[in-house]
Amino acid sequence: MANSKRDLKKRLVLVVEDEEEIVRLISFHLEKEGYTVLSAASGTEALNLAFEYFPDLIILDIMLPEIDGLEVCRRLRSSDQAASIPILILSARKEELDRVLGLEMGADDYMIKPFSVRELVARVRAMLRRMDHLTGTTESSSREEEKVFRAGNISLFPERHQVTIGEQVCNLTHKEFVLLQLLMSNPGKVLTRELLLDRVWGYEVEVDTRTVDVHVRYLRQKIEPDPAHPHYIETVRGVGYRFAEKPQNN
Ligand code: CA
Repeated sequence: MANSKRDLKKRLVLVVEDEEEIVRLISFHLEKEGYTVLSAASGTEALNLAFEYFPDLIILDIMLPEIDGLEVCRRLRSSDQAASIPILILSARKEELDRVLGLEMGADDYMIKPFSVRELVARVRAMLRRMDHLTGTTESSSREEEKVFRAGNISLFPERHQVTIGEQVCNLTHKEFVLLQLLMSNPGKVLTRELLLDRVWGYEVEVDTRTVDVHVRYLRQKIEPDPAHPHYIETVRGVGYRFAEKPQNN
């Protein structure tokens, strides 16, 4: 179940496990340590939550309904956006673990069930620290050379995951943000619906190209001064969308 609000200062950990008691136990101890915890009881739910919230770390059981943990791990690792999320694998059997390690699924750490929750929390803390070290996620270093995409009075800050229009912060959903970043980073270039679908939705096979149109419509309502006559996101009929190379300022 997803917590409805996310405290951005708190680290978000996604716990993927279909055994309720284990989830409850892990959540209790992680929350006590000050982490925010999301949980998923199936592989499908895990992927949905991972791509929606981009947690700081994922605790992933292998034996899961629908899509198993190995496949979840593989899909995360082969995606553009979630590839770097640290993953700690939980496994009930040593043989499963051989597969994880043998296939080089890209898990960062593992624990065999039954495990000590205290040990698990210690591993989580260590993994997050290691991650901070690798990405240099300290206030000062990420601020220094922050990349910004600008067009007209729109500014998009990829690292802050924020869009401003003039002085106002614009509230975009994660998918709207990714869509806008793709468009703004390719000004003047036509991006086909298929490409946008693949880059923004990727694994969600049940969505079709009309989803792209719907999200572009939402996005226009949020960023265009006159959504009916857009001058940032142009429609290229029958093909896709293009971010105007030189949008007039308004
Ligand atoms: Ca399980």
